[in-house]
Amino acid sequence: MTEISRRAIIAGGAMAASPALAQSSGPAPLPPRRGAKGADILGPKNPARAAEEPFTLAPPATDHGTMPNLKWSFSDSHMRLEEGGWARQTTVRELPVSKAMAGVNMRLQAGAVREMHWHKEAEWAYMIKGKARITAVDQDGRTFADDVGEGDLWYFPGGIPHSIQGLAADGIDGCEFLLVFDDGGFSEDSTFLLTDWLAHTPKDVLAKNFGLPESAFANIPETELYIFPGPQPGPLSADLTGGAGEIPKTFSHRMLAQEPIRTKGGRVRITDSTVFPASVTIAAALVEVEPGGMRELHWHPNGDEWQYYLSGTGRMTVFGSESKARTFDYQAGDVGYVPYAMGHYIENTGDTTLTVLEMFKSPRYADISLTQWLALTPHPLVQAHTRMDPKLVEALRAAKAPVVPG
Ligand code: MN
Ligand code: MN
Repeated sequence: MTEISRRAIIAGGAMAASPALAQSSGPAPLPPRRGAKGADILGPKNPARAAEEPFTLAPPATDHGTMPNLKWSFSDSHMRLEEGGWARQTTVRELPVSKAMAGVNMRLQAGAVREMHWHKEAEWAYMIKGKARITAVDQDGRTFADDVGEGDLWYFPGGIPHSIQGLAADGIDGCEFLLVFDDGGFSEDSTFLLTDWLAHTPKDVLAKNFGLPESAFANIPETELYIFPGPQPGPLSADLTGGAGEIPKTFSHRMLAQEPIRTKGGRVRITDSTVFPASVTIAAALVEVEPGGMRELHWHPNGDEWQYYLSGTGRMTVFGSESKARTFDYQAGDVGYVPYAMGHYIENTGDTTLTVLEMFKSPRYADISLTQWLALTPHPLVQAHTRMDPKLVEALRAAKAPVVPG
């Protein structure tokens, strides 16, 4: 292909192939120009990547300064392939700014088990598709088992042992889910696995510990199982083992059963420890923004924000003080990050609903709305800063509208 025909495809074809980008007010992916500024690229190009990142290639004039990278696609994460499923992670190693939280995307086919394990970090989860059976036992021998489906959450405190198994239900072969851990340094490859410990304990010690003959351990796996095919479990009632009773605060929660906050531009569900008491270190919001709408200008007074884009396409600009601002484009499957206290907003750049999960390492969800702050501050003071028409300052809404229409 000649360079000229390649560029013609990039300029026309790539845009036409992406309705989301064609609809947005952003620049064409190539060449990198904004008005009189910029020039074409003479060297190597990555047109597919450039089309995903139009505002990185040709940033708006309001972007300025050096901001850390705030975007990672799970498509760039290493896939750990196992019989019955896979796992990939986005941690501080992939996205260096994400020190507070890390994420794992995992798939378990029906019957496949994420083996019995524990870890130092607390585990928060959102079921993306399909169903799973989850189990746990706490320090007092109290037990937990539940079947979770799309839009359900679970939360396992640090150190609490648990398991996850894919279920066949509604014609779906198992499940896929997102895990968020309350430490960016988490690694899915360094959890404490049942089989790993057994394989590294002498069999006479196992016999003494369990009060069983050594022969009982003749067939224990020599290496960890991690994810492996297992038998479909029976009804949930059969897996409720009793023990010392149920755990006092359930480890699962039906997020989609919550009535959302509805605004003209979309919907928001907030799940923190006030409605999901077990989840003491992770608070979450599920934000839906309709086409043309926007998650309003805001920031969070209580920590970093770890985002997962579930559907649609969005564009987030983050304001980092010292005249710094940078814009990133996101699509379903991407991770976004907002460092503590930085101002930000997210526009829906497509023609379908933009759905974003926002997680915070905090027992409570909290945000400060820029509009509400201005509306509730003495108006002459606001007018002196903004030089707005006083009548328009009076018109600012005092109520938060987490999602505003276009
Ligand atoms: Mn786990
Ligand atoms: Mn936010």
